[in-house]
Amino acid sequence: MAKDSTKIQLPEKEMPRQWYNILADLPKPMDPPISPATGKPVTPDELHAIFPMGLIEQEVSPKPYIDIPEDVLHIYRLWRPSPLFRARRLEAALGTPANIYYKYEGVSPAGSHKLNTAVAQAYYNKQEGIKKLATETGAGQWGSALSLAGNFFGIDVHVYMVRVSYEQKPYRKFMMETWGATVTPSPSNLTNSGREILKQDPSSPGSLGIAISEAVEEAANSKDTNYSLGSVLNHVCLHQTIIGLETLKQFEMVDDYPDVVIGCVGGGSNFAGLAFPFVRDKINGKKIDIIAVEPAACPTLTKGIFTYDFGDVAKLTPIMPMYTLGHSFIPPSIHAGGLRYHGMSPLVSFLYHEGLISAMALHQKECFEAAILFSKTEGIIPAPESSHAIRAAILEAQKAKEEGKQKTIVFNLSGHGHFDLASYDKFLSGQLEDYEYPKELIDKALHDLPKVGK
Ligand SMILES: *Cc1c(COP(=O)(O)O)cnc(C)c1O
Repeated sequence: MAKDSTKIQLPEKEMPRQWYNILADLPKPMDPPISPATGKPVTPDELHAIFPMGLIEQEVSPKPYIDIPEDVLHIYRLWRPSPLFRARRLEAALGTPANIYYKYEGVSPAGSHKLNTAVAQAYYNKQEGIKKLATETGAGQWGSALSLAGNFFGIDVHVYMVRVSYEQKPYRKFMMETWGATVTPSPSNLTNSGREILKQDPSSPGSLGIAISEAVEEAANSKDTNYSLGSVLNHVCLHQTIIGLETLKQFEMVDDYPDVVIGCVGGGSNFAGLAFPFVRDKINGKKIDIIAVEPAACPTLTKGIFTYDFGDVAKLTPIMPMYTLGHSFIPPSIHAGGLRYHGMSPLVSFLYHEGLISAMALHQKECFEAAILFSKTEGIIPAPESSHAIRAAILEAQKAKEEGKQKTIVFNLSGHGHFDLASYDKFLSGQLEDYEYPKELIDKALHDLPKVGK
């Protein structure tokens, strides 16, 4: 392919047939997740109450590459390989000497990278005869991805949707229902966790941490229902690595290689997907800056602490070693709903702690400004989550310009923003506000951390 291409498309037959498992290449082992029931490392049997063995094995696998099942590859071909774009018009607008590329995951039918793991998770659950998957969703991106994936494999999907999104963002709900899923606003009366929250606050707007508790509870109480998580866990990051593996091949096609790799982080999975194959190269001696970008209103990596914490409010999930703002922290309602999570993938946390990646926190207004410039130059209206990666890429490109340096920058455009136009309207009409770092709320939440003896 010519060096001057704009849209770098990997032929379908060259789509990677394996995922990359970074667990195999870590400089030292990670601390294990702890069972809230026993205070000891979680056993596969405990996890089996809510996850299929196929995924539990991947969660702890020492193998560097794991075959992608044929049935999953078939479905991936509906939208994969996804295009890598050279952002020539953005480069020109910035007047930067840098080459800017973006990997576009918004081409999936669900509109984001989340379908990469949803399809894999539905597959392994189907293999074990599971009939129903319970899950949570914030703004609806994960819920819609799992609804479509469940539909492909004939599995019912029940989505607990954070109540404020359920009320304010009905279109994602219609999308989930179109693909056959059932959607319940959370907190709900269907679970103990939900009823407990409603007792304290009947008008609770809900949070991801509460919705996770409800979905886990439903799965734990029913034999043929499992739970499915759209981010954070090792197997989710694993499934997303097809993004970075494709990107490496696409860079080869145009004879380029990045100096800077960027992704936004909520639970960490789209970042992991693009970045982990590059972290592998970095461990093997390449010089690359790998940057995770989070919202200043929910600054898990830059202001959180690295410790053991629960993944949910009702303390039903295993206790994981990660950067956290405290499981009881409810982040301000910024418009990048997918980035409002108190914790962070243990793998991403570990790499940050080991200094293999860096992190940056950005305010939402500067990210919307970047999103508007990107929409006007490249055409695609990005998800507000992805706009954090765009803003960071622009900052890097401006730095390259000031330093007069030729640099190659790549970021993950994790999804499109077609269901987020109400937030664009707010930004364009000047109603959007930045939130200061909610220090007091975080300090309070950090008092509730579990005590895990080491
Ligand atoms: C969910 C979501 C995110 C954040 O989740 P990660 O697990 O950190 O990737 C980012 N971008 C989009 C478009 C999303 O849907």
